[in-house]
Amino acid sequence: MTPNFLENDCIAVLLSGGLDSSLMLARLVADGKSVAPLYVRSGLFWEEAELLAVGRVLAWFADHVRPLTILDLPVRDIYGDHWSLTGQQIPDANSPDEAVYLPGRNLLLLVKAGLWCRQHGLPLLALGILDSNPFADASEEFLRTVETALNLYGPPSLQIIRPLQGVSKKELMKWGERWPLHETFSCIAPIEGLHCGGCNKCAERRRAFREAGIPDLTPYASDPNGKEVSPT
Ligand SMILES: [Zn+2]
Repeated sequence: MTPNFLENDCIAVLLSGGLDSSLMLARLVADGKSVAPLYVRSGLFWEEAELLAVGRVLAWFADHVRPLTILDLPVRDIYGDHWSLTGQQIPDANSPDEAVYLPGRNLLLLVKAGLWCRQHGLPLLALGILDSNPFADASEEFLRTVETALNLYGPPSLQIIRPLQGVSKKELMKWGERWPLHETFSCIAPIEGLHCGGCNKCAERRRAFREAGIPDLTPYASDPNGKEVSPT
């Protein structure tokens, strides 16, 4: 197959609509980069709400980013009745970070997005991974290994980049304060499209706002103790 060369200085960005990837995209745009957002749809429980957030975030940049590309990568045949598909027994606010690990997640994302980049002639693929990410598939060694494997196919070459390397969550949040951060989405148990307020990721989100000293305007369906928040 002959790659369809779109633009050789364009950066493909894996965007989930969460705080990290959204602000990574914002930083790249602020740096004057040309970016092509990618969303990988796997059939996960929270994706409908997440995709709406992706649309809201892309609206921040009007015509300064390329249209969203959605790549389908269903995982039901691998994950079976995993909580990420069923929405049952989702790790709560008291669970450790490791509880939200999704088997093979970054490998799946990188293979799918990396092959798309090669096919379209994009030389850079950006992931919003912070240094605090505890998972093995976010390590430098892992990323370089996948990159090497993809490049063993021969040209065009691809570089997997981490624009948030060396940036703390607090620094990222402070930088991002200029954007309507409540429009991002980072919940794994959404209730009617809202952040549930009580899952592992909602707890992480609340903590990020608190530690950065930024008001959290996110509409949550419940308070941190699981008490339902009445609509205002
Ligand atoms: Zn939640």
